[in-house]
Amino acid sequence: MITAVYRVPLRTRFRGIDVRDGVLVRGPAGWGEFSPFWDYDVAESRRWWAAAHEAAVDGWPAAVRDSVPVNVTVPAVDAERAHAIVRASGCRTAKVKVAEPGQTPADDLARVEAVRDALGPSGAVRVDANAAWDVDTAVARIAELDRVGLEYVEQPCATLDELVALRRRIDVRVAADEVVRRAADPLRVDLREACDVVVLKVQPLGGVRAALEVAAAHGLPCVVSSALESSIGIAAGVALAAALPELPFACGLATVALFADDVTSTPLLPVDGALPVCRPEPDRLDAVAADPATEARWRSRLDAVQAA
Ligand SMILES: [Mg+2]
Repeated sequence: MITAVYRVPLRTRFRGIDVRDGVLVRGPAGWGEFSPFWDYDVAESRRWWAAAHEAAVDGWPAAVRDSVPVNVTVPAVDAERAHAIVRASGCRTAKVKVAEPGQTPADDLARVEAVRDALGPSGAVRVDANAAWDVDTAVARIAELDRVGLEYVEQPCATLDELVALRRRIDVRVAADEVVRRAADPLRVDLREACDVVVLKVQPLGGVRAALEVAAAHGLPCVVSSALESSIGIAAGVALAAALPELPFACGLATVALFADDVTSTPLLPVDGALPVCRPEPDRLDAVAADPATEARWRSRLDAVQAA
């Protein structure tokens, strides 16, 4: 298989990283992306490789829609910046990162209020706490943030039991992300009473087909989100969102906007709040090629996961 290693700076620090890198692989079905974050070990990276292999070798199931509504993703930036990001996006739904290290509840509230102001009353605001709160803290913070009207709160607490306990105490919908994708078996996590929405990510779940199985197993509304991939990985997320029987919410697939550059001259950036269902060609691989040291690290990672 043909492979290429990319490395692109992010416009804003996100998920604790400033630079995103990964391997693109080309097979008979097209290009796939293998880009587990550096804190993932070989065992956890195996599903990510299965997703890349599916994209390159098998291709994806048929689409039932030709475009996918998306949210703008707002990192833990100040209120003024958050407002500008939302206005520039053209999206009608915003996902706002909250509870990040170094941020206060007042910072989060100011950011969420600025986002509501930018969207107006008809837009949808959701927040993602990345499992940062205990149940009591979540109850208090969500009550505060819901002053602007929240569509849902994503992974407010870490464990399934906490989500169940929290959900009995709040009216805002709960979306499950980490608790599904980092589970030993995402098909068998008991989500009854723990959430109202399931977040699906192609690479962590092992591919588009595997994610469709997770959706079918839980029978809950699903939102497809990215793992902060280049447009090649995002195309797999779009393929999943396009293949889901129902798609009641905007998807978190507009994250190429967080990249300072991309592997293609036709990046998957939203137009009027939606992404087209398509597979971009990575025609800028030379422009975003990783340095030799990074390339060597990815090649050994790829070898390890393929040997596992
Ligand atoms: Mg999340």
